[in-house]
Amino acid sequence: MKRKIANSILRFAASTAVLSVIVFVYFRWLHVNPTTVGFSLLLVILLISAAWGLVYATFAAIVATIAYNYFFLPPLLRLTIADPQNWVALLAFLVTAVIASQLSARARRGTLYADERRREVERLYSFSQQLWLSENVFELLNLIPKHIVDSFAVMGAALFLEGKQEAYFFDQSSRAQFPIDQLKAISDRGEPVLERDHKLCYMPLRMGVRSVGALGLAGCNLSRESLEAIGSLVAISIERANTVEKLTRSEAARESDRLRSVLLDSVTHEFRTPLTAIKASAETLLSQPNLDHAQRDDLLQVINEESDRLNRLVGEAGEVAQLDSHQLQFHFEARHIREAIETAIKSSQQALRRHPLELAVADNLPAVRMDLERITEVIVHLLDNAAKYSPPDTPIHIMAEQRDSEVMTSVADHGPGIDEMEQEMIFEKFYRGQDQRMIIQGTGMGLPIAKAIVQLHGGKIGVTSQLGRGSLFYFSIPTA
Ligand code: ADP
Repeated sequence: MKRKIANSILRFAASTAVLSVIVFVYFRWLHVNPTTVGFSLLLVILLISAAWGLVYATFAAIVATIAYNYFFLPPLLRLTIADPQNWVALLAFLVTAVIASQLSARARRGTLYADERRREVERLYSFSQQLWLSENVFELLNLIPKHIVDSFAVMGAALFLEGKQEAYFFDQSSRAQFPIDQLKAISDRGEPVLERDHKLCYMPLRMGVRSVGALGLAGCNLSRESLEAIGSLVAISIERANTVEKLTRSEAARESDRLRSVLLDSVTHEFRTPLTAIKASAETLLSQPNLDHAQRDDLLQVINEESDRLNRLVGEAGEVAQLDSHQLQFHFEARHIREAIETAIKSSQQALRRHPLELAVADNLPAVRMDLERITEVIVHLLDNAAKYSPPDTPIHIMAEQRDSEVMTSVADHGPGIDEMEQEMIFEKFYRGQDQRMIIQGTGMGLPIAKAIVQLHGGKIGVTSQLGRGSLFYFSIPTA
């Protein structure tokens, strides 16, 4: 406030000083006719008006009129005027000065107003951008008061929603400033209230003709148009987030229902084969007690292998369900990929018995951040697939090397290869290769599980393959 007063005094003094200099110069040294002096003074008044506004220009016009009369209109050095013509000149001077400064001040005000509006539009634009970022209603509602304060340089903000009968505040002082009842009353009435003296603005939030809540802003100098635009933007963004959320929820529910039925179908189908084999073997064992040792062994072997398969199926189905509902727990630590590879080879011994294994694991590989058990599971699965889908006695290669800040592990086989179109699809849940689904048993769950595990490690999984030559499955994990 003090600075403002000092500033005004300085401007009055500067206006007087400039006028004095001009008057002095013309009076003392440059002897020109009064018209020239008059125009020079007028020019200064216009400049003052353009730079500082009407008040200073009017003041300068009065000072200039007095000085003009005193120094340049006869009788000189007196405040009287002899020739009536000069009265007219003086009056014309004063009126021109005042009107011209008024026009220039109006133009100035217009520019300021336009600038202010432009700034408000820019702020509205950036505000709307912030609003579109959020698709979660809860997060959006809590962020709106903060976005308003940040974007429009107001002191506080509150948001009330009819649907939830709840209010959201920028901070504690906004909470104290905007009682919920008052916001509710604004929402009910559907009319904005602008208390300019207290710099408080209240806006209803409207969706069409329906009022869905209210906004309260403290320290607010915004124009009514801007406030209405803010109200509409907020209402639309909340409506949008609500719709997006509802849509996502129903889509997720639909997808989850679909998955559940596909899972059930696939599992029941896959369960039937091993169960039939177990049942048939057990019945034979029971009904024919005179089987020889080798025959009994064969049947027991079938029961043993098929129950292993059942066990694996149950495990995979459970894992897919857990991955879908994000329930799978991971235990990350810095470990070496070699550990996972070695454990995987041990547990895939049975599957690998018909395939020579070629191992190429680079020395000095850095540790990676991983859940050892899960990554072992991924490698086991890739090894099982390689063994399952490639002809007996063809070798399987395991490689591990560093690529920038990742460790890349791959399993390659000399199997039938995978059609380019199918290379993406085989990572989808329950997808099984066209050529394999009838011949080789499987569930189509292994690769999607492996993909989810690798992705949860921040890595990538993929395949390169040539039909008739073989496939190379790879996955990368960031180093620890
Ligand atoms: P499953 O093996 O139970 O069918 P996966 O998810 O492990 O399920 O694999 C999906 C499909 O990917 C398989 O049905 C098969 O067509 C194809 N596939 C996977 N690994 C290989 C491989 N090493 N060689 C050729 N095809 C493969």
